[in-house]
Amino acid sequence: MADTLIHDQMRSPRGSDQTRSLRSTDALVAAGLVAPAMRDAVTAVEARYAVAVTAPMRALIAEHGAPIARQFIPDPAELVTAAHERADPIGDDALSPVPGIVHRYPDRALLKPLLVCPVYCRFCFRREHVGPDGGLLTEAQLNTALDWLRAHPAVREVILTGGDPLLLSPARLGRLLAELAAIPHVDILRIHSRVPVADPGRLDDALAATMDVEKPLFLVVHANHAAEFTADARAALRRVQRLGVPVLGQSVLLAGVNDSAAALEALFRAMLAARVKPYYLHQLDPAPGTARFHVPIERGQALLAELRGRVTGLAWPTYVLDIPGGHGKVPIGPQYLGPDAVADPWGGRHRLAGPKLAGPGASV
Ligand code: SF4
Repeated sequence: MADTLIHDQMRSPRGSDQTRSLRSTDALVAAGLVAPAMRDAVTAVEARYAVAVTAPMRALIAEHGAPIARQFIPDPAELVTAAHERADPIGDDALSPVPGIVHRYPDRALLKPLLVCPVYCRFCFRREHVGPDGGLLTEAQLNTALDWLRAHPAVREVILTGGDPLLLSPARLGRLLAELAAIPHVDILRIHSRVPVADPGRLDDALAATMDVEKPLFLVVHANHAAEFTADARAALRRVQRLGVPVLGQSVLLAGVNDSAAALEALFRAMLAARVKPYYLHQLDPAPGTARFHVPIERGQALLAELRGRVTGLAWPTYVLDIPGGHGKVPIGPQYLGPDAVADPWGGRHRLAGPKLAGPGASV
């Protein structure tokens, strides 16, 4: 039954080898994305963590190489778990009152209707849970989750995440959004998705139309490299934006993908060019086997400081850390205000006098 509820293109990919998602080590080797000598080592990774590379991402790998490939091509290093890494780094499991719901903050709740994704990111913080067999909430489980939301009036915002909610069929997503919008105390709906960049063709008019609901709905697209905003991705986003749905961007700071000021500047400028407001830049969560992507927080702060004054404030996301263990998300960006001085975007410091800045000429 569950199979019929997910968009059929995902379950039964049609088309030629060039248009199909790659979902196994053998397929990656055949496509030249994994060296034959690495087959056994990568097969061992595939046995533990899901693999999928969509055709659009495959085309981007061919054009841009490592910054895209690192995100999706399995690496034997994934089987090495560092001492600080955790299977559930942000504590979703302990905060789940019923299947599919995570309740961390009083006024918000996550609803995870499925744990399937169009691509499987090698740094994913839910990597121990997501996968093609990670499934879909049953109708009974979904009804229980909706009943839980109806019974908790403090919840003002519901965030559909997963997995990727935009892999639901238009009929199922439309029904779900309508049910959520009908809950009187729910003011805001949010969808987190990788589909607009990873498989933009899936976000067709029918799927976009499901987001035209009575309550404010925000779409948050996950993208980590400027190249992900292809013409097709921008067209997919336009199908949603034309309905009046605001689109925000979230990214993860990743070594070898976007850990330079130039790469971040290009990423955030590409977002704005696609009418996507950069919202969050996440510090990498310590999921198992992700150490090769780690960028120290001090480096992240320095990169953002480099961008200050160099890009419009619209292009500046909030740099955030999900405190391991489920203690919530906090901003960790560069600091400008000290006890007696404030730094300007170019590194100059200006003394504070009383409650106001001393003004020009008071540099220290
Ligand atoms: S699309 Fe999101 S949930 Fe899925 S593997 Fe990537 S980061 Fe994880």
